[in-house]
Amino acid sequence: MSTQQKFSVADMARKQIENAAKTMGLPESLRTIFMCPKRMLRVTFPIQMDNGNVKCFTGYRCQYNDARGPTKGGGRYNPDVCEDEVIALAAWMTWKCALVDLPYGGAKGGVICDPMKLSERELEKITRRYTAEIMPVLGPHIDIPAPDVFTTSKTMAWMMDTFSMMTGRTEPAVVTGKPEVLGGSKGRKEATGRGVFITTRELYRKLGKSLKDTKVIVQGFGNVGSYAAYFLSQEGAKIIAVSDSSTGIINNNGFDVKDLMECVEKHKLLEPYTKGEKVPRDEVLYQDAELLIPAALENQIREDNAGKIKAKVIVEGANGPTSPEADEILEKKGIYVIPDILANSGGVIVSHFEWVQALSGLYWEEREVVDRLERKLVRTFDEVWDTAKRMKTSLRVAAYIVALSRVSEVYKYRGIFP
Ligand code: NAD
Repeated sequence: MSTQQKFSVADMARKQIENAAKTMGLPESLRTIFMCPKRMLRVTFPIQMDNGNVKCFTGYRCQYNDARGPTKGGGRYNPDVCEDEVIALAAWMTWKCALVDLPYGGAKGGVICDPMKLSERELEKITRRYTAEIMPVLGPHIDIPAPDVFTTSKTMAWMMDTFSMMTGRTEPAVVTGKPEVLGGSKGRKEATGRGVFITTRELYRKLGKSLKDTKVIVQGFGNVGSYAAYFLSQEGAKIIAVSDSSTGIINNNGFDVKDLMECVEKHKLLEPYTKGEKVPRDEVLYQDAELLIPAALENQIREDNAGKIKAKVIVEGANGPTSPEADEILEKKGIYVIPDILANSGGVIVSHFEWVQALSGLYWEEREVVDRLERKLVRTFDEVWDTAKRMKTSLRVAAYIVALSRVSEVYKYRGIFP
């Protein structure tokens, strides 16, 4: 666990499995399997920094469960990356891929570093050396990384190039979230935010409500948060509060989302943005708005602050933003939570499309990507909604029931080796 984390995210991920396992009556043998990561690789490597000094960096890659196929999952660059966090994120990837019925298991990786303090050259060296170190467990039919917090399409291009150089053939299917020119899919960049929007829209449909003029808070204005805000604003919702690691900003008249995106594009952070009232970044969570989208990091909504949230609907753009204790408080308050493994699954769905395109060498128009994403997410949302009604559970427990049932089904046929 990192020093900043006073709790275990992996414990949180295990608690979520427990909750669903109890409700669905999952056999003990499967419960035991689902609690354990299959493989955890830790690597430490030296990098010569721009000033000539040599620094050692530590990275991880966890492959949680590959019963349903090669493992899939992002890699993040953050000072808080640690084994505990990587295990939790890999577990969530496993359940997410099963929930949306992709032929993948779950993985996650990361390097302990602060990308804000590294030059482009240093980031490239770290990426290439980290890729080389985890090479033995990488491959288009073994484990396929993608971007996550503070990693981008450029990071994926370096990973793909390193893998290709070391194997002696160009291998576009080894990562997803690549630039289009290298075989990246149209619509991948926006996919997670678009998925957050689609699942929100489906919930509002079920509730007989409109998104028009709905006030929205977005915590974390990176890839996921910014595109979620953009698509929601296109539907008439009003983004009244946003935050990132540098600041929180409020504008009760509603932000011009494109303008905010341009600021981040140019300066990397929201700090220089002037068209709103600056507040401490965590304050945005407690603003008076109907919809809250946590799209930053884990454990943002906890036992100690869940009571202060005024939103009626929470859509988890981030992975693991809500602790199980906070979940109970939110449920008692009658707040709907669209869980991460459903709300942010748009990214891995389009990553799967990208992998299929790279393996086949046949590339799709954006319309086809968006239509397929829409269909898959609407179908999955309905399945989760119906399960929640039938089992009288929260949407999170329902999503886990669907996901765990799918992985369980595979064990019925594959059995346990040897
Ligand atoms: P990103 O690096 O593009 O953006 C992260 C954002 O969060 C940045 O704006 C950063 O400044 C902000 N942030 C960091 N700490 C914060 C804090 N304490 N308070 C407020 N903001 C803070 O990363 P991303 O890809 O948008 O990922 C965000 C979340 O979504 C992560 O939990 C990630 O695992 C999850 N996710 C991402 C994808 C994807 O396709 N990128 C897919 C599924 C889930």
